[in-house]
Amino acid sequence: MAEDCIFCKIAAGEVPSETVQEDEHTLAFMDLNPWTRGHALVIPRNHSRNLYEVAEDDLRHAAAASKRLALRMRERLDCDGVNVLNACEPAAWQTVFHFHLHVIPRYDDDPLQLPIRPRQAGPDELARVADQLRGG
Ligand code: 5GP
Ligand code: ZN
Repeated sequence: MAEDCIFCKIAAGEVPSETVQEDEHTLAFMDLNPWTRGHALVIPRNHSRNLYEVAEDDLRHAAAASKRLALRMRERLDCDGVNVLNACEPAAWQTVFHFHLHVIPRYDDDPLQLPIRPRQAGPDELARVADQLRGG
């Protein structure tokens, strides 16, 4: 447990939360500021700052827990889809520094919109960045 980590405190039961699903490795609870009805966060019980640092086992357990929760949302909330979102570092909108996955039920008539306007990249540009990422 990390000192001053709000999600560690939630996992330890020191701070209240609306927990909806838990197992040995993970906990899922309602986000205080939901984007849609049912927006939840899945966390590993073990503390890590974010995707860069999370242990692979914790990541696997959190991903599996997100799937279980998504199926439950479909069944119980009658949602039409689900977004799973992770923010890693402030540049990517991370505000709480304990790894978590947002599991956000989506409804055909919900008001969420992508904040992104994708642009087309030419083949050279794609090839250059792929070169940077490829290989060991
Ligand atoms: P991030 O911005 O790091 O991806 O997500 C953090 C999320 O945690 C935010 O959506 C925020 O609403 C939620 N959050 C922050 N503090 C608390 C808290 O004390 N309890 C709960 N349940 N959610 C929190
Ligand atoms: Zn923590």
